[in-house]
Amino acid sequence: MTNSPSKTILCDFDGTISRTCLCDFLYGQFASCGMKYTEMWTAGKIGTREEIQTTFQYINASREEMEKALDSVELVPGFGQFYNQCREAGNELIIVSDGLEWAIRYMIAKAGVTDIQVMANHIFFEDQGYRFEFPYFNPVSPKAGVHKLSIAQKFKDAGQQVYLVGDGRTDFEATQAADFVFARDALWDYCQENGIPSFHYEDFFDILDYLKKPNNP
Ligand SMILES: [Mg+2]
Repeated sequence: MTNSPSKTILCDFDGTISRTCLCDFLYGQFASCGMKYTEMWTAGKIGTREEIQTTFQYINASREEMEKALDSVELVPGFGQFYNQCREAGNELIIVSDGLEWAIRYMIAKAGVTDIQVMANHIFFEDQGYRFEFPYFNPVSPKAGVHKLSIAQKFKDAGQQVYLVGDGRTDFEATQAADFVFARDALWDYCQENGIPSFHYEDFFDILDYLKKPNNP
């Protein structure tokens, strides 16, 4: 029997649950402006809200057409098992992403994951086009559509043990409020450079193995 406290596990989506960034994938398939605004985002010239809203002005595809295209994107191995293990252990797994909730839910449903909280940007498909809402925006960090640090801090302040799973730049700031980080790619380098307690993973089976070991943090 384990008496370890329950954890809140905040998990990034793009580059973490799927190797492919879903918005970038859709832009590549459907946006007549291509990756112009994504490149500006990468260079730090614009924020996520501007990137999404501007690029979608160059898209003329239905929800169904975009979902059909998303069927070619694969999830990182082990995500469904990781979700089940979190439930069995009484840990709350929440997806926290600067992408679009609609596309994320479409993708994870394929792994049988439907009953999960997703904190991401919202798209509405309307007769006159697309409309967006950014319910997790925080003006202290205007480049981010979803301010992951505020979310992580909220759980931390509520007394939860906060684990973060991620891969890149959108996860850097939230490490400040995390007790432990599962990291790969740029986030792994960031954790190493800043002495942040972390474990390197490639897929969710690596994380499952780590969590099974009783003496790990
Ligand atoms: Mg990512």
